[in-house]
Amino acid sequence: MQRLKTLIEPMISRWGVCHVKDKSICFSTYLLLLPEWCVEHIVVHELCHLLEPSHNARFHTLMDKYFPRWREARKETKVRARITANPHNKKL
Ligand SMILES: [Zn+2]
Repeated sequence: MQRLKTLIEPMISRWGVCHVKDKSICFSTYLLLLPEWCVEHIVVHELCHLLEPSHNARFHTLMDKYFPRWREARKETKVRARITANPHNKKL
């Protein structure tokens, strides 16, 4: 069994990325700006990509199984990202 490699880098455009072929996941250091449950959602999201690389129905089924509140967390993460990227934006 191949071990999972995890990296943490200052990525701006993504919270995380999964490289299925070499079984590695890279997380953005900016996850520190998110609430814990949003971080959990992103970690589960990237781990699910090891089982299903695409954002298809099977992937959504996996997310429903391992993180049932993923839709809510994704929405919250998007709102937080807008605040973080543009703190003076009054249109949220
Ligand atoms: Zn994804």
